[in-house]
Amino acid sequence: MKVPKTTKSLCPRCKKHMDFTISVYKKGKKRTLAQGQRRYDRKKKGYGGQPKEVFHKNAKVNKKTTPLLTCSVCGLKKYGRPQKVKKYEIIAG
Ligand SMILES: [Zn+2]
Repeated sequence: MKVPKTTKSLCPRCKKHMDFTISVYKKGKKRTLAQGQRRYDRKKKGYGGQPKEVFHKNAKVNKKTTPLLTCSVCGLKKYGRPQKVKKYEIIAG
């Protein structure tokens, strides 16, 4: 899917339609001290192998991509509609 680099959208801070630049949302860094991570680390300690199954048989190629829109004037960031596509391409213009 091809997406233009800039689009017009409503900015709630400027309270009107503004130019937004589109980029792709990326996951943040995992927190090492989150409860789930601590529990997992504890489970992995000691004897025995991998405690939780690791998924390998993935047949699907489409991944959900969330666009991140940034207002060109005030810099407000908002999310666009997530798309399930094979390839998410941002083109100029
Ligand atoms: Zn704005």
